[in-house]
Parts: sequence; structure tokens; C-alpha cells
Amino acid sequence: MGPSIDPKTASKLPIHDLPTPEPESPMRQRKPYRFSTLCATVDNPDMKDQYGSSAVPIYQSATFKGVGNDFDYSRSGNPTRSHLEHHIAKISSAEHAFVVSSGMAALDVVLRILKPGDEVIAGDDLYGGTNRLLTYIRSHVGVTVHHVDTTKPETLHSLIHPTKTAMVLLESPTNPLLKVADLATISKDVKERAPNAIIIVDNTMMSPYLQRPLEHGADIVYDSATKYLSGHHDLMAGVITCNRDDIAKQLAFTINSVGNALTPIDSFLLLRGIKTLALRMDRQQVTTNIVAEYLHSLGFQVHYPGLADHPGREIHERIADGNGAVLSFETGSKGLSERIVGGTRLWGISVSFGCVNSLISMPCVMSHASIDAATRAARGLPEDLIRLCVGIEDVHDLLDDLEHALIDAGAIEFNVVQNRYLRVSSAEDGQAISRAVEKLALDGVQPQENREWFVSAPGKVILFGEHAVVHGVTAIAASVDLRCYGLTTPRNDSKLSVHFHDIDSFYHEWDIEALPWDAVTPVPAGSEHPEVLDQKLIDAIVEGPLKAIDESKRTAHAASLAFLYMYLILANGGERPSFNFTARSTLPIGAGLGSSASFSTCAATAILLLQSRITLPAPPAPTSPSTGHIHVSHQGRRALPTALAEEVNRWAFVAEKILHGNPSGVDNSVAVFGGALAYTRAGFERKSGMEAIQGQAPSAIFDWDLVPRDTKKLVAGVGEKKANEPELVNGILKAIQSISDEARRALADPELPRDSLLSALSALIHENHGHLVTLGVSHPSLEVIKNTTAAEPYQLATKLTGAGGGGCAVTLVPDDFKAQDLQNLINQLIREGFEPYLTSVGGSGLGILSPYGYHRNLGSAGAAQFPGQITPPETPSHNGDSTSQLDVGQEDGAKDLQPIRASFEMTSISELPSWAESLGRWLYV
Ligand code: PLP
Repeated sequence: MGPSIDPKTASKLPIHDLPTPEPESPMRQRKPYRFSTLCATVDNPDMKDQYGSSAVPIYQSATFKGVGNDFDYSRSGNPTRSHLEHHIAKISSAEHAFVVSSGMAALDVVLRILKPGDEVIAGDDLYGGTNRLLTYIRSHVGVTVHHVDTTKPETLHSLIHPTKTAMVLLESPTNPLLKVADLATISKDVKERAPNAIIIVDNTMMSPYLQRPLEHGADIVYDSATKYLSGHHDLMAGVITCNRDDIAKQLAFTINSVGNALTPIDSFLLLRGIKTLALRMDRQQVTTNIVAEYLHSLGFQVHYPGLADHPGREIHERIADGNGAVLSFETGSKGLSERIVGGTRLWGISVSFGCVNSLISMPCVMSHASIDAATRAARGLPEDLIRLCVGIEDVHDLLDDLEHALIDAGAIEFNVVQNRYLRVSSAEDGQAISRAVEKLALDGVQPQENREWFVSAPGKVILFGEHAVVHGVTAIAASVDLRCYGLTTPRNDSKLSVHFHDIDSFYHEWDIEALPWDAVTPVPAGSEHPEVLDQKLIDAIVEGPLKAIDESKRTAHAASLAFLYMYLILANGGERPSFNFTARSTLPIGAGLGSSASFSTCAATAILLLQSRITLPAPPAPTSPSTGHIHVSHQGRRALPTALAEEVNRWAFVAEKILHGNPSGVDNSVAVFGGALAYTRAGFERKSGMEAIQGQAPSAIFDWDLVPRDTKKLVAGVGEKKANEPELVNGILKAIQSISDEARRALADPELPRDSLLSALSALIHENHGHLVTLGVSHPSLEVIKNTTAAEPYQLATKLTGAGGGGCAVTLVPDDFKAQDLQNLINQLIREGFEPYLTSVGGSGLGILSPYGYHRNLGSAGAAQFPGQITPPETPSHNGDSTSQLDVGQEDGAKDLQPIRASFEMTSISELPSWAESLGRWLYV
């Protein structure tokens, strides 16, 4: 019947053509078409296309000419949309269908039926957005909303009021716990007790293919057509169906009044998606059943109505034709769940479901994050719940990927007795989770971890391609063994503090509750920070917590801004941990060696760890801690998983944007991943991209710190030269590109003998520097270093490095270079006024001091000895009782020092690496 939303138009349209076709003869009866046939057959006998087009055309028109015709204005009615509405009515056993701009828009249209004073009874495991809208109408429209466990129809009885109960809102199965509500029984019960109440069912989890609630007594059914009906995650839409003319009239009125009907182009796409609904769902359901059985057989608590032990299975079989393609399972530990979710490749981490691609998510931190933590806990929504939304990929690939993630996360292990993988028993985890949930239910606050986290990240050096990189030439960057270190120490006074030791020993603290939380748009776990920084939040931080900071302290101001920005966005909606963050750096600051990126990496890692946004993998086998080396040893390399590194890298990049405006992303990538990487900006013959170079570490090098220089001016100078002498400069750029290519090949070639590698790199360094001189970016001091190092007896290759800001040069020192010559060279150049940093390149990236229980010795720093204590230690939970009174020249809060913090802040820069290493086992990317 009249699916168009304008009642005037609706009355002219045909009653939908179910069952089709009419019997031909009483002797040889034809059966009505089945669902998949109906889906594929878009045919409205009353809206025949004038050209016989096979697909419904997109009537991309706002208005239609003439007076008194079927269509006049697309807000009220549009032919493409009418076709779609007719089709939906047909497959939903409905008299009326409406399509609007999203599932939430559909619910909004429905809820506008309510008046102040009305009462609504709704489920307690609803989609987060539904919950949010109900909360809104409760406070703004004066409607009472009761949430009940809809798996027990009798719990509704006492709440049904004969006149006040205006609506009952149900989902079955629920999302994400897959609880089943007996739609038929509840509808009957409500109608008996409150004849005017309207029963509404959100049927998104099933789609009309698997469940048609109008057949079980519902008055209105709506679907987020963004899900199964569309099937491809390429549009947003909502569908409403009903059989009552009075309700249809009211819905049509609202849609026409507010103007949220679906656009012609989305109507077309949705119509196309629906044609394959049955086909997709069949495949998705079969696979879901296999995945559910698999997880169940491993020993996980799995929620899926297809499983024999599902409590609502019988009811579900009665009211639905299939089990759908969403399941959820519990792991016993939120951290474990995060590792599993982060470890999958084929299963995309995303909200939503119903797409042909499989998705994985943690509802509590994603789709249901809009329900506050205490309410989630009170409604029994486990924080560790993982939701799987199964697509149409090959089931073997999906199982393979899931199994890999479960193994890597330490969730399952091979059981030799049973000769198969089984869930790792985590009774403790389970208890911890339920304790946490219990606590949440009581006061909505999560316990804070009482632990110090100690992290570090390297700086970088550009080996080849600086300046040319601006014009699209590949640059090669590598990590250096000079690092930034960051330490978090818990506080118990609801304050947050930073201590930037090497930036004039800057210290500042803030009341956490006084931070500008109102300005925060949270980025839920699993989602990424938008490309553009949140200027509103930056302004709020600058005008609020940073206002008191002296203008002259620009570096500390910028570092505090980056730190607070990440803290606020990452903490909002979850914990707001109270701690101090101290950063120290063995890198010269502002010398072009990536000190800010290593700081950004440390700060991001610390905050992510405290927010449990990243968690460490299960403990590795113990080894004895090494002692006494000046350079960081990288025994724990690859102990940190790639997913963790990538998450840190994304946030370190955000911090870099705050510090630098428009960073390339190279510095933070090297700080996180270590090693060497090739970076190309789109422009000069090649596409933009960044690629790790797996291979040998080149060698030790020197960084010579020079007079500070103006990077922007130098870069602009090259640009100008290119405009004036394009042939010359383009020739140089080409030459530098081949140097980078050559270096990359040499570094990545495992077969290349070490001396050949070093002599190749020396030649390339020499050649690259020559080009930089021609480009006019060298400096007399750089030439002094170049000539001194090249002279007898040293014969070393030197080039300037970086775009020039810090004015640095690098000199490659071969493995067999004589120690005495090295000492002489250093002395000679120190006498000339240069500052040398001897470092190896290509070492590890981000490191985290393992929190697992190894013995440690605080070593040479002069602090107390803690044999047998875990690292980092659990710190005492009392406040103001400092274990060591250090006069470090800051405000009082900084004196409240804990064991590691005290030693960390007083160890000299030269001893810092060996001291840090002596604390225990470091885990590296
Ligand atoms: N209902 C359920 C069960 C959902 O899962 C969703 C979205 O995830 C919605 C409604 C809202 O739909 P939409 O996102 O299209 O507004």
C-alpha cells in the first residue's frame, strides 16, 4: 500500500503485492514467492518505469513540476524512495514502510509520538545510541523511562500502567549480549494491561529476513538499515514499518515535518543492497555458527542464540528464522580482550555490524561507550566483552585470523593432553573483572593502578635525503641510541603533574577535576584521533591550565600542551589517573635529532598504559638483567607487539602535530619502531610513503652539535634556488634520489659484507654532502668538521644532517676505527667548540620497563637497594611520605618522590642509560 510518506500521495499508491503471484489456476497452483525471490525482485506494478529500466532510477530532484501529481517535493515524496518503501513493506509483511536518514532518525520519528507524562518500558541491554536518546527525552520531554530485563516478561508486569504506559521498546536478540525477549508474549501481556500502549521493536540485529515482529504483535518495527539491509557499510539509513494506518499517518507527518527522509541516492543504494539480503545473511549465519562453536569449544563464555546452551534459544527459534551474524564472548580480562581485538588483521576493529566484512569490537569502549561505566556495570555488561560481527569472507580465513590473535594475546594455548588449543584458565582475571564491575556498580570509579611505568624512545638522525625530501625525494632516517625517558609515578591527591627535567627543570601540577573536561571530544579505544587537531580543546587548555605558565617557557609550555591534550582525550569517559610524569633526555633538545618525537612517544606511551589503552603481552622468559653498559642493549627487541607500537605511534604523531604543526611523521615513526626507514613525500617521481628498512645497523656515528640555525630559511632558500635554476636543482634532486635508493638497497641487503656496506655508505655520505653544499645549505662550521674528519689519519666521511635547525653533522665511524684515533678526533673537535655525541644507529625503538617480577638493583644512582622487588615497583598508596627528600629545586609537589622517581631525577645524564638498564628487563618494539 501507500509507502510514500505524504498521506496525500500515499492514498494513491497500490497495496503491496504480497503474496505474489496470484494463483494461475485452481488446478496448478503457484506458490507465493519466497523471501530471497522477493528481495531480488524490485517491482512496483503501480510505478512502471517509462523506459523499462531494470534498476530503479535515481530521481535526484528536489521538486517535481505540475500540480496535483504523485510527487511535488522530495521531502514529502520521491519516486526512488517510494520504490524502496514499497519494496521494504513487501519483504517485511507490512502495510506501511518509511525510510529515513539513519536508524537513530527512525527511533526519533517514533519517539515523537510520546507526550509529557507518558511512560516507556525499555530493555536494559539496548544499543548505546538508543539509550542516549531515551535519556534525552526523559530529561527534555518529561517522559519516564523504565529499563527492565526483557528476557523475563513477568518483570514488565508491575511497571505496566493501563493509561500511562505509552510505549514498550524491545530488542531481540539484544546487542551486544544477545539476550532474547519473547516478543509475542510481551506484546500480548502489554496489550492486555495497557491497550493503547504501542509495542516497538528494534529489529536491526535480525533484519526482516530473520524476524518480522509485526507478525508477533509489534505495532512498529524499525531497523538501522545501515546494517544488514544495506550490507556494505556505504550508507546510513533507517527503516520503519507498521500495519496501523493511524500510526503510519502520524509517522508520515513527522518525517515530512522534520525532513529526515532518505535521499534519492541513498534510497537507490539501499534498494540495491536489499536485493542480496538473503544471500548475504545465509552465508554470514553459517559462518557465525561455526565461529561461535569454535570459541565455545575453546572454553569461552559465548553469547549466540544458535548455541545449544543459550538460555533464550527456544523462544528465539519460535519467533525468528535464524540466529543472525553477531556474537559476543567474554575472556575474563579487559586487557586480554584488548590484545585479542588489537591482534586480528582480517577482523576490522570497528563499530557497527551487518556488513559483508567481518568486524571485531569491544562494546564497552566503542559502540556502548555512551552508556556510562557505572550503568554498564549495573546492567551486567562485562567490560571484557568482545563482539564479533561476521561477514562473508571465507570461514577458514576468519578462524585462522581469530586463532592467531587468541594465541598471540595469550588467551589460548596448546594443551598436549587434549592435543588441541584451549582457553588459558584465568580464574584470577575473572575475579578481577567481576570485582572491578562490582566496584563500578557501587561508585562508578575504576581503581587506579598503583605502579610506576618507565618508558623510553630514541631520537633519529637523517642519514640521506634531507632538504631534497621537501621536493619529493626519498630520505633515509635511522634511530640513534640517545633517548628520551619518561616515568609515571602515581599520586593520591587527584592531581596531575609534569616534571620536564631537561627543560629548566620545569615542574607544574594541576587539579584533575579542574581540567577543561567540557571541551573534550573523546576518542574511544579502537578509534583514531581525527586528522585535524581539536582546536577547541587546545584553546581551552591554553586559556585554562596553561594560563599560569610564563610565556618565556615556550618549550615547556608546548610539551605541557601536548601532554594535557592527550591526557584529556584519552582519559575522558574512563579513568582519570592521578600521577606525575617526569621526562629526561640524553638527546640534545632542539638539535634536529628528534628529541620532541621521542618525548611525544614517551608521553603517549605513558598515558596509554595508564588508561589501559595498551597492555603488555604475557611475561617473557626471565633473563638476568645486564649491567654496566653505556648503550642500551636491545635484548627485549620485538617483545612489544606491532599493534601496541602502532597505537603509540598514532598518538605520538598527534603530540608531534601539537609541537610542530605539520610534521612528516618520520621522527615519531623512528622513535616508536627504531631501526631505519625510508620516507618519501609525494611529488618527485614517487608516491608518498614510509617503509621500514630491515637489515644491518650501519655502525657507530658521531653527531656533532653546532650553532643553531634557521631551518625554515634554509628550506626556503632551496625552494628559491629551484625556482631560479630549475635544471641545476632538479639534477641534484635526481642525484640525491639515487643516493637514497642506493643506501636503502645497501642497508637492506643481508648478504652485503659489513666493510662493503660501510664503504658504500661512506661514499654516499660524501656525495650527498657535496650536493647539499651546491644547494647552499652548508655552513663554514660544518665544513670545518667535514675537513677535519676527512683529513689524515682519520679519513672519515661526514655530512650535514637534518634540514639545518640544530646544525648537526654526522660522521660515519667504521667498526675497526682505532680507539686512540677516535679519542684524538674527539679532543680536536671539542677544542674547536663542537659537542660530540657518539651513538650507534638503527637500534631499538620504544622501550617499556617490564612490569613482570624480576629482580632488580637500583645500582649506581645512589638510591636504596630493592633486591627481589618487581619492576617497576608498586608504590605505597599513602601521600606526602617521601622516601627521599631531594632538593631538586621545584615546587613542593615534586618533592613527594618515590623510589624510581627519586633515582631517575638525580642520576646524571651520562649515567642515565646504564642506570635505566640496570632496573630490570626492558621490552622493545
Ligand atoms: N539499533 C541498533 C541495534 C544498532 O546497532 C544501531 C547502530 O549501531 C542503531 C539502532 C542505530 O542505527 P544508525 O547508526 O543507523 O543510526
